[in-house]
Amino acid sequence: QKAEWAVLKNEATVTADGQAVELGANIGTPKDIAGVLENGGEAIGLYRTEFLYMGRDSFPTEDEQTEAYAAVLKGMKGKPTVVRTLDIGGDKELSYLDLPKELNPFLGLRAIRLCLEMPDMFRTQLRALLRASVHGNLKIMFPMIATLDEFREAKALLLEEKAKLESEGVAVNESIEVGIMVEIPSTAVMADTFAKEVDFFSIGTNDLIQYTMAADRMNESVSYLYQPFNPAILRLVKMVIDASHREGKWTGMCGEMAGDEIAIPILLGLGLDEFSMSASSILKARSQISKLSKAEMAEHTDRILALGTSQQVEDYVKKLSNQ
Ligand code: PEP
Ligand code: MG
Repeated sequence: QKAEWAVLKNEATVTADGQAVELGANIGTPKDIAGVLENGGEAIGLYRTEFLYMGRDSFPTEDEQTEAYAAVLKGMKGKPTVVRTLDIGGDKELSYLDLPKELNPFLGLRAIRLCLEMPDMFRTQLRALLRASVHGNLKIMFPMIATLDEFREAKALLLEEKAKLESEGVAVNESIEVGIMVEIPSTAVMADTFAKEVDFFSIGTNDLIQYTMAADRMNESVSYLYQPFNPAILRLVKMVIDASHREGKWTGMCGEMAGDEIAIPILLGLGLDEFSMSASSILKARSQISKLSKAEMAEHTDRILALGTSQQVEDYVKKLSNQ
């Protein structure tokens, strides 16, 4: 099997009926790039920048950040690279950032909420991203967006920093796409309005599932409710993909679900444009996708979304793949 996958390393990802999709990787540091390229990654679908801020005793400087982002962009040699702005809070803490203890950290001041609350810290990251942008195909993504106002505010800060850099004579890439993670149900429901303003969506199922099912993704006692295949999740995913396509935008997925072999046929049928997963899953996914017909999977979509339970969805897909 490994040998069969290896020949796919330099191939595009194309379904049996000739439809191309993009297979990207999730990374945490510039060091991960080698593994992405070795495994035939066509893109970075999620660079979690919080690791740059963790395991140290002060914020990374603008120069340090610029260096890390430039290294990733150069390493990817012009391939699409989605960099997510700081997603701290919730389960991820910084020793040097003394935030008040919260009763419900996952529902509290985290990610974009914290960044908008601490604009100086956020502006530093945005400047570093803009300065690095000339080195490759950068796409900037804001995490945990719950409202259109948050997106507008974050984008306004980005444009302000861009204008400042340009007035200082610093070169900035003019074609940076700006998108959001869809990991809060309100945003999935409002995807049609977001789609008019964002350049792309990336669905973060790790959080989308926990917020939709109201089941902490870390809590074993309610893990039975953590159901990627619950039709509620699939219907939200469909709303997001359809909304983006109506506006000529694209949708990716960077939660664990994107690399799941039962999820892949469903997501293909729903029209997902980009799948981002751990690098080690890419070749296996490319092999699986090359054997699937997107048109055929699309014909099953309505039936799958009309099922009542997660188990029924899993059984349906398993039966299909055994045919
Ligand atoms: C997600 O929520 O699906 C996601 C990719 O982000 P993280 O796992 O970093 O919260
Ligand atoms: Mg998340």
